[in-house]
Amino acid sequence: MMLNKINSACSLASLFLLGTIFLSGVIFAQELERYEFSEEKMGVPVRMILYASERQVAENAAEAVWKRFDELNSVLSDYDPESEIIQACRQTGESNDFVPISDDLRKSLEESRRYCELTDGAFDVTVSPIVKLWRRSRYFHKRPPEDLLAAAKENVGLDVWDIDERGVRANEGVRFDVGGIAKGIALDEALETLQKAGISSALIDASGDLRIGDAPPGKQGWTVGVASLNDEPVCYCELSNVGICSSGDANRYVEIDGVRYSHIIDPRTGEPLTRRCVSAVIASTATTADALASALCVLGGGEFLNAVDRVKSSGLSEKEGSFLLEFMLVQVKDDSEPPYSENEIVVSASPFFQEKISENKKNSQKR
Ligand code: AMP
Ligand code: MG
Repeated sequence: MMLNKINSACSLASLFLLGTIFLSGVIFAQELERYEFSEEKMGVPVRMILYASERQVAENAAEAVWKRFDELNSVLSDYDPESEIIQACRQTGESNDFVPISDDLRKSLEESRRYCELTDGAFDVTVSPIVKLWRRSRYFHKRPPEDLLAAAKENVGLDVWDIDERGVRANEGVRFDVGGIAKGIALDEALETLQKAGISSALIDASGDLRIGDAPPGKQGWTVGVASLNDEPVCYCELSNVGICSSGDANRYVEIDGVRYSHIIDPRTGEPLTRRCVSAVIASTATTADALASALCVLGGGEFLNAVDRVKSSGLSEKEGSFLLEFMLVQVKDDSEPPYSENEIVVSASPFFQEKISENKKNSQKR
């Protein structure tokens, strides 16, 4: 465990490169002191900054958060063959009945199903068999065999599985991959764990997906930089009590016969995205932001607006009585190579992000 307490009154003005999101903050410690912890959880480095009255309170809270991450990992991991989600998939394949599941798995699958409905199938955790075929392609540098892809596509969609108070039921061959939402769920749980320990001012960063609580003492918010495909921040936002998550194919892709295949799949076609992109979504929770950041890459900026309308009508993502959903998607126009110039990319963004991006441009011209 790494503990890094900042004592000086104005000691830090930092910019951390965190996947596609950068974070910076100037800290003025008052009665509460700043503590920082980091550990590897769910396969990524997780970093937590929190304000607490004393070291013991901070350490106990951090321990509780790491424990919660471990619990969720043992339920949701796609890499651990003993995880509950993998076991449940095996059992549903063998039985026509509902298979009982834990509350954590129920909640995760219910949320997954909800975002599948809201994004009209662009976010779909049953995409797992297709994800697995394309993961193998990364080693063999060959497209998956077409017959296997066709068979995998048969088990994708809302009508191949069901969930209710009895548990989960699914057709044989259905597999769940909650990799596109699990970090968001864990981040929301992490903040809740801190709040239960009496800590409200906190930020938890799971490698570019962030859950943010109250602002640091004496500040308006946490300053978060949102990066584009060129790995430079395109804008900075002051945020509190939101989730902000990113998605895209910056690092995870395979190139086959000159085509660059992303790790994000369009569940409607079974094909990975081939257009380079990076997305960022701000919502009232990290669960919403995480699922929608993946869906935004699949849908593109235009179609995503329909999902935004559906999220709004369903009463989700409300903050202080108003609807909150900000998004930014940067796509490469053709197969140009990085670094991309402005005319090689297309940016689709909500007015909030548009404003922040032009503010950033103005500021960098001044510099
Ligand atoms: P993220 O980085 O949050 O966009 O999550 C990407 C991960 O979600 C991938 O590595 C896959 O495991 C899974 N995934 C890929 N495509 C989809 C999709 N369309 N819907 C849901 N999950 C997906
Ligand atoms: Mg996601």
